[in-house]
Amino acid sequence: MPHPRSRSAQHNAVNRYKLLYIASLPHSGSTVSSLILGQQPTIIGLGGIDRAVTILADEPEKAAHDFCSCGNMVQKCEYWSQVLAKADSVKGAGQRQRYDLALSVFQGVFGLDAWAVDSSKHAEPIAELSRFSEIDLRALHLCRDYRSAIVSSVDLKRTRKNVARPGWMIGLEAGLRWHRGNSKIRSILLQNQIPFLGIGYEELCLGLPHFFQKLGAFLKTQTIEVPATIAGSRSHLFIGNAMRRQKQKEALMYDYRWFSRTDWMAASLLMPWLAKGNRDWVYGNGFSRVFGHESGNKWNPSKPD
Ligand SMILES: [Zn+2]
Repeated sequence: MPHPRSRSAQHNAVNRYKLLYIASLPHSGSTVSSLILGQQPTIIGLGGIDRAVTILADEPEKAAHDFCSCGNMVQKCEYWSQVLAKADSVKGAGQRQRYDLALSVFQGVFGLDAWAVDSSKHAEPIAELSRFSEIDLRALHLCRDYRSAIVSSVDLKRTRKNVARPGWMIGLEAGLRWHRGNSKIRSILLQNQIPFLGIGYEELCLGLPHFFQKLGAFLKTQTIEVPATIAGSRSHLFIGNAMRRQKQKEALMYDYRWFSRTDWMAASLLMPWLAKGNRDWVYGNGFSRVFGHESGNKWNPSKPD
């Protein structure tokens, strides 16, 4: 029986595509995280791969003038220009063909050892990706502190959607969504046996060097100490024009808003499992002394450095 898989899939049986998938809810910091990851010598963020390739295939002329986070238009970007040149071949094709194109071009441009970071955000496609034997798939479950997520959701609802309900009520809904969404991400990763690293956005902000050490071990690649800015990022996120307007995203910044707000408190009281979610999903690594009381923290306060 002939092998059903494509020529490139066979070719990559040895040199499998390295793909690190950021699974997170919207507004969890995945874009800035992809850019920060791109400061590492062998890690390059590409943004939402499937969506980007689809746009390049469907509207090549318009997409050519969209922007990449490297500062160039897509048609001049060292990576996306090459995907654009071949995008016609995957017009109307399936997810597997789109990833095959994006990742084969990636290997050609950045070499066999580089990890492509996909921040498509939704967790669902990852189950299908895990069945593609040509991809060495790893995941980061990125989760933001529920209190911070709630306050951000309240502000978004008010400013963009003109929702007039009281903050605590929007907070309850947001808390529920946060718990359901992150539980779902975890169960998809576990059910499909995808190797993953759970990381809190807060841990990233406050313990970046620890995170990179752990990530290096997880990906079996060398990581270096880098500042929490995107200045040196080699990532190529297909961003259209959205992020160019958002200067505040140029650095990994802790969102302090929830410190002085009360919108999250009703959710905290009525849903005590949110705090457990925080412990397991956001502060589980215990990277920083700030979280010295959290379980799993290896730092021993009685022992001086
Ligand atoms: Zn670029």
